[in-house]
Amino acid sequence: MAALTWGAATDPGRIREENEDAFLADQMVFVVADGMGGHQAGEVASSLAVGILRERLGGGAPSPDVVVAAVVEANAHIFQTAHTNAAQRGMGTTLTAMAVLPPTDGRPEQLAIVNVGDSRCYLRRGGVLVRTTVDHSYVQELLATGHITEQEARNHPRRNIVTRALGIEPTVRVDSWMMPVVRGDRYVLCSDGLVDEIEDAEILHVINLHTDPQGAAEALVAAAVAAGGRDNVTVVVVDVVDGVDPGAVPDDALDEFDETASTLVLADPEPAAVASNLPPPTHVQKLEQRIERRLTARTFLLMLLGAVVLTVLITLLAVALTNDDPAPDPPVTTITVTTADTATTEATEPSPTTTERRTTTTVRSTTTSPAAVTTLP
Ligand code: MG
Repeated sequence: MAALTWGAATDPGRIREENEDAFLADQMVFVVADGMGGHQAGEVASSLAVGILRERLGGGAPSPDVVVAAVVEANAHIFQTAHTNAAQRGMGTTLTAMAVLPPTDGRPEQLAIVNVGDSRCYLRRGGVLVRTTVDHSYVQELLATGHITEQEARNHPRRNIVTRALGIEPTVRVDSWMMPVVRGDRYVLCSDGLVDEIEDAEILHVINLHTDPQGAAEALVAAAVAAGGRDNVTVVVVDVVDGVDPGAVPDDALDEFDETASTLVLADPEPAAVASNLPPPTHVQKLEQRIERRLTARTFLLMLLGAVVLTVLITLLAVALTNDDPAPDPPVTTITVTTADTATTEATEPSPTTTERRTTTTVRSTTTSPAAVTTLP
């Protein structure tokens, strides 16, 4: 039995209120799923995917085909659910998972890694970090065909468009890799909320600072949130504490995952098992673009509403200030009666500014004393 230890952490990030990511970290299966679809449908999709993998692979996968079959089943289930529930139409999820394949006759214990979408699995071995998965994303295609550089991909406005996801089509093609269980290996499964914020070199730096996997997972999530946290971020870290001696692994074992070459060499890997009918890449793009447009329209309406509210507040404030004008108190008429016989009246009346004030003055003058006569202009 593989001797593994693991840790996991997730955070909605700084912008989003909901966390549509889901994860599973269990003895035999580890999953990160990044749901999409809005109105909580994304949460439903990612949770469904995680639930099915737990059920199918939690006891250990007998073969790589079973791992891929579980992902295909999750896809079909999400697709079906989306089509029987209007509120969840169009929902989908990425999925990156690692499952333990216990040893059987003639085959040593192994790890199966599967991927659909743009969540990722990294492997650190011998101080080197490599991506074992290849994103199914629009920018990855541009990168693989040499249209953009890695740096341009990081800042590309369409970097969140995925070209494959679970739940979008009745079937899905799943990429898969088999790995030996090597002592000292550390795997990092993550949603794009991590890699959109921090670069691979920083991922390596952060996980090198933490020997325990839970600390590493939490530190990675914290780093992504600190760097911007524009998306939900989820990380599962798995350490192999016992397994094949690293010295027994061929030196070129990681060459196919070479840090610089991985994105090109593995741009179109052969899946171990295939489900037919690869969804057209544009399909998911359209879905994402639709969500993006909806968000843009909503932002515009919110801004418009904000402007109206601000205008009303400014107007009200202006009116209030006009009424509270600290103009001189109502004009005061000072009346001095010197003697009973000869009433002399001194009347001081600051120039009234309104008719109302003038009226007030008249009344006060009249009631003060019968002898007092105030003549107003
Ligand atoms: Mg995401």
